Amino acid sequence: MTDCFSAPGLLNFEQALSNMLASIKPIGFDDCETVTIENALGRVLAQDINSPLNVPPHDNSAMDGYAFAFESLISTDCLTLVGRSMAGQPYQGVCQAGQCIRIMTGGKMPLGCDTVEMQENCDLLISKTEAPQTEAAKTEAPQTEAAKTEVQQNEQKQTVRFSGKKLLGSHVRYAGEDIQNGQKVFNKEHRLTAIDIGVLASLGIALVKVIRKLNVALIATGDELKTPGQTLTQGDIFESNRYVLSAMLNKLNVNVIDFGVIEDDFQAIKSAFEQADLQADAVISSGGVSVGDADYTKDVLDELGEIDFWKIAMKPGKPFAFGHLKNSIFFGLPGNPVSALVTFHQLALPGLLKLQQCEAQKRIHLKVKTTTDLRKSPGRMDLQRGILSINEKGENVVTSTGAQGSGILSSLSKANCYIVLPSSQGKVFAGEMVTVQMFDQYLS
Ligand code: AMP
Ligand code: MG
Repeated sequence: MTDCFSAPGLLNFEQALSNMLASIKPIGFDDCETVTIENALGRVLAQDINSPLNVPPHDNSAMDGYAFAFESLISTDCLTLVGRSMAGQPYQGVCQAGQCIRIMTGGKMPLGCDTVEMQENCDLLISKTEAPQTEAAKTEAPQTEAAKTEVQQNEQKQTVRFSGKKLLGSHVRYAGEDIQNGQKVFNKEHRLTAIDIGVLASLGIALVKVIRKLNVALIATGDELKTPGQTLTQGDIFESNRYVLSAMLNKLNVNVIDFGVIEDDFQAIKSAFEQADLQADAVISSGGVSVGDADYTKDVLDELGEIDFWKIAMKPGKPFAFGHLKNSIFFGLPGNPVSALVTFHQLALPGLLKLQQCEAQKRIHLKVKTTTDLRKSPGRMDLQRGILSINEKGENVVTSTGAQGSGILSSLSKANCYIVLPSSQGKVFAGEMVTVQMFDQYLS
């Protein structure tokens, strides 16, 4: 989203982001705790994870069939069946030339074998007298000792004929083919996904060191704000910013400390910010950063910390405050719901990720055709809201969600991407190519 053209007096978005990130110091890898993998979803690793073993731990079969030495089948199509290797119950002997072993998926490759043929290409040559006598022995995995003995005795007398083309090493899964002993599997700074938890389990790792959870305070300001469940009186609106932000913060796996709605009053705002600073690593407020009559936030923050009030060349979200209180970092979001959400997502979120020690993920950008005209005047970067879809020709196209006012939260809830229009861009006509940024997991 680099773009140098912006209206005078406004701070370029990239500049604002890099200034902000440069002044945030991560909490440190020593500030960590040990958790079980069942409790590690969404947590950020404070240690590199190296594999303590090969995955899979031994060569094994990828098919139900028969294992043998490939060389044995060069001069014949038939081998003598001498035993079986089941998953968890390996064959204990050595398979000699001219012999084969019944093997099941996951069964350990017996010594002396290098190849597996799937059972569909094999015929078990079985005489009437040698057929299993008991029902229990007829099953693929006989359970009782007597049944096992009967199967083994019969197998010793049986011959398997192999048809089809044979290939050395076929249907063998090799030890370490997924992950090798000692291989680095995850870097510290990595946020663990559901799949990663499975990978850790497959390595036999039960406990991991993760960065401690951040404490993030949320404050909404405004006399007009009522919480859902309350009754609106004239001039009131329902408050939504804390709800959206808190839901997004939950995805970031932080402890949210909710300070509720604070009235437009210097002392009330001051005491809320002081309390928040004592309890939190980061304080996020919404409302009161544009300088209107009832906006005390700026006066309070001038007293409590070193806060910059930026006018960023982005739409939505021009006013944005960032800086340091005594103990915490501070993000002051605009009050308008779309502006609050977009500035949180584009600026505060990368800041919190840095504080949380988490590796930054690049957001996905695509160049696609717009199906609708897009209103825009040069001077600020626009993050309009769009719906990316596939048209009847199979092409990716984007459609505007409609009115783009900074109070129209539905423009975001209908969208699945931003349409990123650079500062210098004017009106865009349907059919032109535009850049879209896909919504990531925090917005979905
Ligand atoms: P402000 O930034 O305080 O001047 O607020 C700008 C606009 O956003 C006003 O229309 C406010 O009513 C609205 N607003 C402020 N805070 C919230 C909030 N937490 N939830 C929903 N709307 C808000
Ligand atoms: Mg306000």
